[in-house]
Amino acid sequence: MEELRNLYSEMGISPAVYAYGEKVLERIAPRFAEIDQIAEYNQAKVLTAFQKNRVSATCFAASTGYGYNDEGRDKLEQVYADVFHTEAALVRPHITCGTHALTIALSANLLPGDELLSPVGLPYDTLQEVIGIRPSPCSLAEYGVSYRQVDLLEGGKFDYEGIRAAINEKTKMITIHRSKGYATRPTFSVGQIGELIAFCKSIKPDVLVMVDNCYGEFVETIEPSDVGADMIVGSLIKNPGGGLASSGGYIAGTRNCIDRCAYRLSAPGLGQEVGANFGLMTSMYQGFFLSPTVTASAEKGAIFAANLYEPLGFKCVPGAEESRHDIIQAVELGSEKAMIAFCKGIQAAAPVDSFADPIPGDMPGYDSQVIMAAGAFVQGSTMELSADGPIREPYAVYFQGGLTWQHAKIGMLMSLQKMVDAGLVNI
Ligand SMILES: *Cc1c(COP(=O)(O)O)cnc(C)c1O
Repeated sequence: MEELRNLYSEMGISPAVYAYGEKVLERIAPRFAEIDQIAEYNQAKVLTAFQKNRVSATCFAASTGYGYNDEGRDKLEQVYADVFHTEAALVRPHITCGTHALTIALSANLLPGDELLSPVGLPYDTLQEVIGIRPSPCSLAEYGVSYRQVDLLEGGKFDYEGIRAAINEKTKMITIHRSKGYATRPTFSVGQIGELIAFCKSIKPDVLVMVDNCYGEFVETIEPSDVGADMIVGSLIKNPGGGLASSGGYIAGTRNCIDRCAYRLSAPGLGQEVGANFGLMTSMYQGFFLSPTVTASAEKGAIFAANLYEPLGFKCVPGAEESRHDIIQAVELGSEKAMIAFCKGIQAAAPVDSFADPIPGDMPGYDSQVIMAAGAFVQGSTMELSADGPIREPYAVYFQGGLTWQHAKIGMLMSLQKMVDAGLVNI
């Protein structure tokens, strides 16, 4: 479209970059159609849960103090439970982030003498201190919970024999993280997670399984809770917050597990009965309602990124043609200079702080410098267009988010433009 090309030119995106993007889009149109169908299914699933629970305007009222009889809060939790097909859910702004939600799920259901097993290698970075893999005050290790790990085999396969050998009389819980985080293994599909859960439960039927579902919600039509997980856990500034929730986390699972989580979050005896909502319910309901389509937008952006960069010689994880089970796209750019150019493009495309210039800096918990690009309405929200990565081999940026597909597209074209401008790629 002529007008669009002109506007893009004014924004600094050249006709050549635009044309290259359009060519890529033609190629991936069938995959977009598939994503739209999954989004439609999930939209209907969420809508049905709203209707079944008779969500009404009174649900959006603010509560204060103890928050007793908070109908809006209680119904939202039931909506989550219905969508994820679980007996119960804990969904609260008092859960400060994904790591906090995971910490509640672990510490509420593991007692001194119990053992936690990760059959999928090292858990997500921030959980390593929670578990005590890296020593930390108040870790599970300090409370007498031991930890065992079975690494993935070559190619990201489960080491079934290793897992069989690792499960013992102390094994109380199994933790599986669906998304790859900053690792370069593939993200697991819900089907693969289901096979792993079935295998573990065939060896020890009463073992609890927790799945770290961060970045995975609504990418498929089923969730890990549909294939035997006792708890699924995530952050509201990722997929299920739909970009609108201003903070929070969720845990959905069996009544027994969720009761314990609620006692851990508030206090034994109080559980889910307390917790004022501070007037945040509208954004939490509306965000969950929008989440299937926002997730689809972000996924389209990720597929576009892989198909834009892979033909130019950059390794992408997942690859351009590969199926995907979360919204993260890793692009191995091969140099610090390229990482900076890429991130400048993402930042320049942001609705907030577009004038800022991302540069590598030190970050607590990392042994190399990290670069981050984000201009988000909700601080740190990676449901919004963002990119980051540690400045070290293989110089990979992790790109994710985009509240609308159109915005994700602009961000990607802008990143490519900055790469072209820096003389790092030829279109
Ligand atoms: C983001 C993330 C977390 C932790 O979430 P925070 O909200 O940053 O604490 C845990 N696991 C995975 C796989 C994640 O992507």
